[in-house]
Amino acid sequence: MSTPLLSVRNLTKQFDIGSGFLLRNDAVVHAVDGVSFSIPPGETLGLVGESGSGKSTTGRCILRLVEPTAGEIWFQGRNVSALDARAFRALCRDMQIIFQDPFASLNPRMTVGTIIGEALTIHKLAPSKEAFTDRVVELLETVGLQADHMHRYPHEFSGGQRQRIGIARALAVEPKLIICDEPVSALDVSIQAQVINLLEDLQGKLGLTYLFIAHDLSVVEHISHRVAVMYLGRIVELASARDLYVTPLHPYTEALLSAVPVTDPKARRKRIVLQGEVPSPIHPPSGCHFHTRCPIRQLPLCAREAPPLKETASGHFVACHLRS
Ligand code: SF4
Repeated sequence: MSTPLLSVRNLTKQFDIGSGFLLRNDAVVHAVDGVSFSIPPGETLGLVGESGSGKSTTGRCILRLVEPTAGEIWFQGRNVSALDARAFRALCRDMQIIFQDPFASLNPRMTVGTIIGEALTIHKLAPSKEAFTDRVVELLETVGLQADHMHRYPHEFSGGQRQRIGIARALAVEPKLIICDEPVSALDVSIQAQVINLLEDLQGKLGLTYLFIAHDLSVVEHISHRVAVMYLGRIVELASARDLYVTPLHPYTEALLSAVPVTDPKARRKRIVLQGEVPSPIHPPSGCHFHTRCPIRQLPLCAREAPPLKETASGHFVACHLRS
């Protein structure tokens, strides 16, 4: 793997939730629990997990939208976590985010041109009014919208078009890394494919690097070079997209993949239905967090010891006592 653009090392985030009925005074949510990964330039890492797995918190910690409790984030060879607010803001231009909800993430009182051009103004990237307009038009056309859309308001657009506006806004400052935080979850399936294709095209043209967060393995399959699967704050498997889809090793990944719809009957997997709900991140299970739902657990080992994330084949990592 070439020198990473982004390296996340032992990232941990705990949220204090204070006291309350049935909660101790020192109750915390263990949202992210020692997560490490790297992304080389021009690649996409898919980060997948159910609600509460810590995937979105991981993305937000990278951008310091929430401050990590522990761990380091290295971006372009600099320890981002050690920078003061001013130095981080300067670096932030190279890291942008596309949010899940294209309805909530655009200011309804601003025209599309103002929304897309806001960052140009903040970072003084347009020396004149003409340069500002030219750049906004260029960005609109880059994401498949039209020049006259700049005078309209977000409510005049469909969900897919609004997500294109969000992408144009992220591209305005010519970032190197974009955190795509469930960018298609709120869209119809047919529109999802269009937005994913657009992101792939933009990566090819602009050399972008993506951390693509999703709760569904089928969404990240085509766009990701590698995929990391998270469960209750920890990465349980990380591999190239091909290895993960063809030879999954972790029982949780197997269960997620068995739920992915496939058109070829020969490629259909036996459905694995996990028992119970994802446990609360306030009181995660001991040992392997997955042991309360794992169909192949071995007690007492799995409840006693947390399995480390180990490389079992070149570039294929798994955290399981029985599969590593
Ligand atoms: Fe299942 Fe044990 Fe492996 Fe965890 S370590 S995934 S409980 S077999």
